[in-house]
Amino acid sequence: MTDLHRLSVRELTEGLAQAKFSSRELTEHYLKRIEKVDAQVKSYVTVTAEQALAQADAADELRRAGTAGVLTGVPIAHKDIFCTQGIRTSAGSKMLDNFISPYDATVVAKGKAAGLVTLGKVNMDEFAMGSTSESSYYGATKNPWALDHVPGGSSGGSAAVVAADLAPFATGTDTGGSIRQPASFCGLTGLKPTYGRVSRYGMIAYASSLDQGGPMARSAEDCAYLMNVMAGHDAKDSTSVEKDVDDYVANLNGTSVKGLRIGIPKQYFNVAGLAADVKARVEESLKKLEEMGAILVEIDLNMTEAYVPTYYLIAPAEASSNLSRYDGVRYGYRCEDPKDIMDLYKRSRSEGFGPEVQRRILIGTYALSAGYYDAYYVKAQKVRRLIQQDFLKAFESVDVIAAPAAPTTAYKIGANLSPVEMYLGDIYTIAVNLAGLPAISAPVGFDQDNLPVGLQLIGNYWSESQLLSVVHQYQQATDWHTKRAAIAEENA
Ligand code: GLN
Repeated sequence: MTDLHRLSVRELTEGLAQAKFSSRELTEHYLKRIEKVDAQVKSYVTVTAEQALAQADAADELRRAGTAGVLTGVPIAHKDIFCTQGIRTSAGSKMLDNFISPYDATVVAKGKAAGLVTLGKVNMDEFAMGSTSESSYYGATKNPWALDHVPGGSSGGSAAVVAADLAPFATGTDTGGSIRQPASFCGLTGLKPTYGRVSRYGMIAYASSLDQGGPMARSAEDCAYLMNVMAGHDAKDSTSVEKDVDDYVANLNGTSVKGLRIGIPKQYFNVAGLAADVKARVEESLKKLEEMGAILVEIDLNMTEAYVPTYYLIAPAEASSNLSRYDGVRYGYRCEDPKDIMDLYKRSRSEGFGPEVQRRILIGTYALSAGYYDAYYVKAQKVRRLIQQDFLKAFESVDVIAAPAAPTTAYKIGANLSPVEMYLGDIYTIAVNLAGLPAISAPVGFDQDNLPVGLQLIGNYWSESQLLSVVHQYQQATDWHTKRAAIAEENA
């Protein structure tokens, strides 16, 4: 079969179960496409062809023996922030260019246990800091819809790899929008789970109180399959929650859109930088949901203006602490010929980290320093609580909250936004992380340049099933999620 990359995850599970094709055939097909197409997209940092074929053969063996699971033999790409035993895990940084992880992240281990075949590791902004994937040490990944545009970030490789049909689905992480914004820029569906739903063990830390892994795929249905693998308590992550996991696939029709109260925050649709096309597509999608029976309710989220300053204190503060472990001593990059220990620290860190990471270490260290701690960090924590309360109050009168995933569509590569301009682009996603809530982004059309637009739905705690279900039903009634970038049409 020449079009295996066109199949949805459900179709792949069915095809494998019915022996229409083997995991080896499927894996070889994807590897061939990667070889042909990825030179243009540059989504992979590392392709693990040999290991993938061995995993595929093992999967086929399980199929023959009748002991396969649902996803046994389905390929996946992992964001290069998840530790993979024996395989480089770079986090997009020169600092970790030589880091071969001695263990698997829980998410990766769970994938292996489910029989997933790892095609490789995909590109990202350095240490997940950014919105374009351009800050990667390995260079920019291209948006499959327009190769001179960014795929978003920080999980830009995860988005590009799926949008170019170079993997059926991918893992991503979201500290302030890094699943939802690239999903939106690349016409995909991406779910940021409730904080604590997915283990962070072995996921290289950016801002630990905000980081959360999640699935990125073409549809809510495909995301549900991956969520079934990723979700769950993990004793190795003290912030992962001991709470029953839903069967996200079985629940895809579990929430009725009829009667669903969707909150429309007034403040969100008056943001200065909101592009007209984005606003129009999002409003059209809400109209569609209304036709399907949802009730649109105007709500207030009064803390909107505080989102960007609060996040850009807390995230860098935590990052500056997390990144202090990269000192050139234990592992990671070490400068040549250090004169003494101070020289070793200084040069290893200034040569190993790129400019955006250094900027955040400086901001975070400043905010945490004696004398400024109360004025910046403690204050930001207090405002964080108010932001959370603002959401909880809204959820007293609505079931989900609608927003654009991002104020614009994908930027041009090299657009050179100032840091503040870039940070303002995170306005719709970062509050969700500050509050620890789940949210999903789904494609709802295109702008005048044929670049995808994403609708975001924010849910109350642990409402992943509900979010997937609402988007699934929207996707049954529309076909935006079936549109493919031209490059994805190319056969290997
Ligand atoms: N763009 C945001 C930042 O740079 C979010 C990144 C993320 O979610 N990892 O911090």
